[in-house]
Amino acid sequence: MLDKELLDILVCPKCKGDLDYDTEKNTLSCYACMLRYRVDEDDIPIMLIDEAEKIEENEKKDQS
Ligand SMILES: [Zn+2]
Repeated sequence: MLDKELLDILVCPKCKGDLDYDTEKNTLSCYACMLRYRVDEDDIPIMLIDEAEKIEENEKKDQS
């Protein structure tokens, strides 16, 4: 689990926008770029576009 302080300063490396932290999957998602960044076992977010996983349109999180 990432610290709130760290989450506050983390932005998408591509668009510099806010990230959506999934505490269950331990991933950081940018829905503007449709990219998902993983967090490794030591709670280090891998903020690399090359390492990011593409988010499929049908798994876009319901914002309601
Ligand atoms: Zn982005």
